Amino acid sequence: MRNPLAYEFAALCLLAWTAFISAGEDSTRFGYYGNPDNIEPKPYEWGERAEWRTCAVGREQSPINIETNDTTLMITDIFGLDTSYVPANGSLFIDSANILEVELNGGGRFKIEDKTYYLQQFHFHSPSEHTIDGVRFPLEMHLVHTPESGELAVIGIPFSFGEENSFLATFWDELSLLSQDPDASVSLTKVDVREPNVHLGPAYARYMGSLTTPPCSERVTWTVILGEANTVSQKQMWTYSNRLPYSNARPIQKLNDRKVKRSVTVLNLR
Ligand SMILES: [Zn+2]
Repeated sequence: MRNPLAYEFAALCLLAWTAFISAGEDSTRFGYYGNPDNIEPKPYEWGERAEWRTCAVGREQSPINIETNDTTLMITDIFGLDTSYVPANGSLFIDSANILEVELNGGGRFKIEDKTYYLQQFHFHSPSEHTIDGVRFPLEMHLVHTPESGELAVIGIPFSFGEENSFLATFWDELSLLSQDPDASVSLTKVDVREPNVHLGPAYARYMGSLTTPPCSERVTWTVILGEANTVSQKQMWTYSNRLPYSNARPIQKLNDRKVKRSVTVLNLR
């Protein structure tokens, strides 16, 4: 006589295997609130995955609200951030979490004190992830830099509503041409994030934070541009939200015992 438990055991194994396979397929995918068709883990669920535990338990998470009156002043070079970017070819695509990204092929460098970082890619969050004095912006660009060793440095650039942005205009129309195919990409030539295309000042805030997406790794050096020098037009935001209608901003994280620094030049002190 056959042991009915053997059937049960086999059925359990099959169930476990199926669960393992489907979890495996989605293991790197994550989502945001607002999209009813999106079944991926939402920001408050990211930390439930063992590999993304830092998202829940990390003490230095990003993004944050930057209270400019609650910052420590940092005297900086009057020439602003130490960047030497170069126009680079790139590839524009939308990733599985609906983040619009441009991967660059040699974007130049960014120095913080004596440490050199290399610009790899930039991408967009809408609305902005960081808020400044409680104000949220329609769009935030993240310039992601990798060092030779150690953790990343990211420059966060909020865009306020205003004039059409001529830098975005160089590739923004490609958005509507980008097919729904998840592997679709558009080649871009001479993407130039230097002034005056992108304003990296006048003032900025600096703090230690994390990736704003899983695995939420910490020790990321954040530079967030203050002021409203970078603008985006209503029409440009319409083009964006027509293609990407849902938020991809992680909620604001606790500051805990971190200090945020704010740049001030010797000239401003006078
Ligand atoms: Zn980002």
